[in-house]
Amino acid sequence: MADITIYTRDFCGYCVRAKRLLDTKGASYQEINIDLDPAKAAEMIERSQGGRTVPQIFIDGVHVGGSDDLVDLDRAGKLDEMLQREARRPEPVETHDVVIIGSGPAGLTSALYTARANLKPVVVEGLNAGGQLMNTTEVENYPGFPEGITGPELMEQFKKQAERFGTVFVPGDAIKVDFSARPFGIWTDEKELRANAVIVASGASPLTLGITGEEEYAGRGVSYCATCDGFFFRDQEIVVVGGGDTAMEEALFLARYGKRVTVIHRRDELRASKIMADRALEHEKIEFLWNSVVEEVVGDGTKVQSLKVKNVQTGEVIDRECGGFFVAIGHTPNTEIFKSVLPMEETGYLKLEQGSKSNIEGVFIAGDVHDHTYRQAVTAAGYGCRAAIDCERWLESQGR
Ligand SMILES: Cc1cc2nc3c(=O)[nH]c(=O)nc-3n(C[C@H](O)[C@H](O)[C@H](O)COP(=O)(O)OP(=O)(O)OC[C@H]3O[C@@H](n4cnc5c(N)ncnc54)[C@H](O)[C@@H]3O)c2cc1C
Repeated sequence: MADITIYTRDFCGYCVRAKRLLDTKGASYQEINIDLDPAKAAEMIERSQGGRTVPQIFIDGVHVGGSDDLVDLDRAGKLDEMLQREARRPEPVETHDVVIIGSGPAGLTSALYTARANLKPVVVEGLNAGGQLMNTTEVENYPGFPEGITGPELMEQFKKQAERFGTVFVPGDAIKVDFSARPFGIWTDEKELRANAVIVASGASPLTLGITGEEEYAGRGVSYCATCDGFFFRDQEIVVVGGGDTAMEEALFLARYGKRVTVIHRRDELRASKIMADRALEHEKIEFLWNSVVEEVVGDGTKVQSLKVKNVQTGEVIDRECGGFFVAIGHTPNTEIFKSVLPMEETGYLKLEQGSKSNIEGVFIAGDVHDHTYRQAVTAAGYGCRAAIDCERWLESQGR
């Protein structure tokens, strides 16, 4: 097997994601948590030629990059080769009552309910096991936690509760589905599953800007996860782009680290909820550049140095000094594998037929994968409950 080193931090969803992918491959690795040994941060930055985000992954001394780079290698079919991994023998295919795609609040709530109904659900966890809350710190609005709880801790509790009633977890993404006949087919890299019913709870992912320099400097100053990477930009100029709750949450969190945090927003008012907007507007370290868009990320080849920012009203372009650039502009639903399988809106969000039902009998939908209005953990969990109850009743109507 290959020699793998992965630099991580506490509460880093992308680190968990990368480790899970390596786990699914049966690969062992040396984990260096730079929170436990801060001297290793400098080593990581040097070895990765300026990489200032976690995780940073090395396979046989070769710098792979971060979690997305590892996933890209896997999708291109190159990771197995790098891991010197032999193909596994196919396992016998079993038919389950219900397979749930996704392990965020929606998927894990569906798992809890269907498990308690004795349906022995199988959850295909996805590469970002635990979902979006794995990339956040305090969750203050999930009922039952008056003091708040961190996102990763909350998702750990969800998982334990679903496990307690017999939920089975399959790591990795579903890469293909066949809903044309029952039992339905669901494939991961490693497994083929059959199911009498499916609950789709594959959630959403952060959007990228698609501007020059964004991809080049991803992991070298461009970040999509403040909790993972804020630490690296201590006493530096930090910029957050976006005007919603996520952007305000990121800006407030980053204000703990940065010399100054500038929020750049294309309009002259925020989309964020009033409480979040007020907190950011009143914060002494947070400044706002209104009616402005970032046009280019500029660096010195190893890390971000500045941004080209255009005022959309005057057309004026300025250079803004920037060490850490955090993109917080919203999400895109994770529905790639359902194209031509399930009806979706232009934006890719899945359409519901009635309640949680899709247009295919036996396929149910829950959470941010269809909900672009509320997008909260508690609503996703509620939708997960609804899909589980609809699924249970439908299976019963089918004599199961
Ligand atoms: C930074 C941030 C902070 C937030 N803070 C809060 C907060 O304080 N309070 C709050 O209520 N909400 C918060 N939210 C919103 C909340 O996280 C989401 O509304 C909620 O996680 C949605 O749950 P979900 O289960 O629908 O989807 P997600 O959480 O997105 O989970 C989707 C799951 O599906 C998996 N998946 C995707 N594709 C596949 C596939 N092909 N095969 C298998 N699995 C797949 C993913 O890996 C993931 O496990 C926050 C979101 C962000 C980004």
